[in-house]
Amino acid sequence: MADSKNPQECLIGVDLGGTKILAGVFDSQLQCLGRNKMSTKAERGADAVIERIARCVEEAIDECDLSRKQVRGVGVGTPGSVDPESGRVIFAANLHWEDVPLRKELERRLDMPVFVENDCNSSILGVYETELKAKPQHVIGLFLGTGIGGGLILNGKLYAGFRGTAGEVGHMVLEVGGPKCTCGNRGCFEALASRTAIFRKIQTAVKAGQKTVLTDLLGDDLNDMRSGDLLKAIRRGDKFVEKVVEEAAEYTGIAVANLINLFNPQVVVLGGGIIDALEDEMMAIIVETARDYAFPGSAKGVDIIATEVGDDAGILGAAVLVRKALLDAK
Ligand SMILES: [Zn+2]
Repeated sequence: MADSKNPQECLIGVDLGGTKILAGVFDSQLQCLGRNKMSTKAERGADAVIERIARCVEEAIDECDLSRKQVRGVGVGTPGSVDPESGRVIFAANLHWEDVPLRKELERRLDMPVFVENDCNSSILGVYETELKAKPQHVIGLFLGTGIGGGLILNGKLYAGFRGTAGEVGHMVLEVGGPKCTCGNRGCFEALASRTAIFRKIQTAVKAGQKTVLTDLLGDDLNDMRSGDLLKAIRRGDKFVEKVVEEAAEYTGIAVANLINLFNPQVVVLGGGIIDALEDEMMAIIVETARDYAFPGSAKGVDIIATEVGDDAGILGAAVLVRKALLDAK
């Protein structure tokens, strides 16, 4: 790889989310040199958001005392369905985007090569190439945050499916007639075990009179609740919060069992803000439930692990996207 001889060259990974834009600057060995954060302000429309991504990237480069010339490319992991060839975002519900030419518009603003992929796909790619050293052939990634997304590595390659929408594990229905999901269905995995689902469950119970340490910490409306607060409440002996988190872990275990039955992977990797904050509380339950529910024999030897990359999976994956694209182009 030519750029490994020149430590001055760098790759940028952008994690585009519904509420924040994160840009990470990486050297050619994928060590993070610095990062920058900005709010997304999706309500201002696609043009304004793309402008903010460009600014976030430029500031990140500047913060690292690098120049634009040193940047080999910018990778963007975006929510929604993506056509990676054209870099268009076909549909992204939480950004309110429909057919947005993200790659073209960002390249025009930054004058650098840009690569776009679905955020969960790029995250699992990042974990796969760095943490797992691209060794196992079949890997499934599950990311539990505001929503729940997934990514599939099959036969050592990212699996996108017929029209690029494969890996929507968050919308597997786990409870027929269950709580309403953002996709319009009921009982999706995401509506049962995402941060949004966990928070909603807690807030509804509190309104109905449930006592919890969380209201002492955050006030009665619980508006500023974060994943870390759940951990604080559990550590203070809050049995109610513990139970809600355990239920989310059980649903996650069932989802993992379904995926093991379907794909018989070598490794199932869990990540995202919820796992990051509650790994010790959730992982043992997830593993046990998955092994319980999986078809006899199919979970044998399957590693079910939490990623060590944590919340950096997004920016790292997006940087890996650039490295891969540059290598493929050679
Ligand atoms: Zn759904």
